[in-house]
Formats: sequence, structure tokens, C-alpha cells
Amino acid sequence: MKIYQFFSLVTCVVFASCGGSGPTPSGGSYGRDTWGHRPGPKGFTTVILDAGHGGKDSGAVSRTTGQKEKDLTLDMVRRIKGELGSSFKTVLMRNHDEFIDLDDRVARANRYNDAILVSVHFNSSASSIRGPETYYWRVDSHGLAVRCQQAMAQVSPAEQSNRGMVRRRLRLTRNPEIPCLLLECGYLSHPAEAQLAQSPAYRQKMAAAIASAIRTQAAVGDAGTGPLPAPLYAPPSRPTDAPE
Ligand SMILES: [Zn+2]
Repeated sequence: MKIYQFFSLVTCVVFASCGGSGPTPSGGSYGRDTWGHRPGPKGFTTVILDAGHGGKDSGAVSRTTGQKEKDLTLDMVRRIKGELGSSFKTVLMRNHDEFIDLDDRVARANRYNDAILVSVHFNSSASSIRGPETYYWRVDSHGLAVRCQQAMAQVSPAEQSNRGMVRRRLRLTRNPEIPCLLLECGYLSHPAEAQLAQSPAYRQKMAAAIASAIRTQAAVGDAGTGPLPAPLYAPPSRPTDAPE
């Protein structure tokens, strides 16, 4: 009951703050929406690829290979763009070793309609942990999250290395007004996975898998990705919330 009361309280906030137009029934047009409480996109035309970190922010650094996350993510988005070819308009959030604040990344992503945002990262934790992981928050990002996680897990060699999907309110999963994901392609802190990440052939396979997941989502929407998660109501993520 308390939950119901909470929901009815915030419903007006949703409508009052929703600046985006929803998907049109005829398809093809998938505009911005503040909350993303809608089915996943189909027929989108623009893919925004965000290479995590950059410039003064190296992200994770592998003790095994010395590679920096910011370099690997830039390499990955270029490969994904190449794999997508001319099927979409692809936008690279950064195409150089430059620092871009997370809020600026959100603002740039929000300039686009009919678009999705995929932020690419590599992870770091205890050296025994490995495997790809997908972060999402919005309902309209769930189907694409399922596809991307499955695709990355198929490339990742160890079965137990599939870390699965995590629904988390981050600036790049909550604040954009378009479907958005944050992909962790593997753990640079895991010696074997760091070696894999160092391999251009492995990165190409991972990029091809992610591109394929994006293409499938554009072709068939959420079909086959299971039930949509419940809408969550929470304010935009702020820099002070938690480390990202
Ligand atoms: Zn990162």
C-alpha cells in the first residue's frame, strides 16, 4: 500500500517533467523521454557510442598489461562503429583522448532523437572476478541490455564469467532522455581477462557481438528479451550519489 501511495504521488511529477514525445504507433520515430517507462526502441536511426573515461581520467589500469581503460574504450567504440557500418548514423562521444564530464555526455546525448546511447567500459575489482556486465536503469533499455549482455557473454570464454545485468541508477543509465546502457566488457583487474582485452582480435569479436545486438534491437525491438521490468521512480543521478 505504501508503494501504491508513493507511485500515485510521483505520477504527477512524471507527467509534469516529461518533456519528450513517446514512440509513435507507426514506428520509426522514437523521441526523447525523461523516464523511459516504455517498451524498448525499434527502428532507431542513430547510435551514440560513448568511450568511457578519457584525458586526465584513465579509468581502470591493468596491473597485468598496463593498459588503460580509456584507451581500450576508445578502441572499442571505433570497432563497434566499423561493425555497424552504414546501417546507422553513428556518433562517437569522443574520438580522442579527451576528458568529458559525465553530465556533458548526457547533455550531448540528449541532442538526438531516434537514438540510443551505449557507453563502453572495462571493469576493475578483486583479481578473481571476471566477465562482462551490463548496467541499465530505464524500462526502455532493458531489451537492448539483454541482447548486449548475451552477446558479450558469448564472446567471453569462461561460462562462469557472465556477470549478468545490473539495474543501477547512474548518470549514464538514468539521466539521458533516450535508451541508454553502460557496458563493462570485462575486468582489467583479472589477469587472464586483461590479456584478452589486450588482443585486438578479441576486441573485434566483442565489438562485432555488441554491434549485432544493436542491429537486432533495431530490427525487432524487445521481441524475445522477456518481460519488461517494473518502472522505477527516482530522481536523476548526481555526482555526489556514488562513484561511477
Ligand atoms: Zn569505466
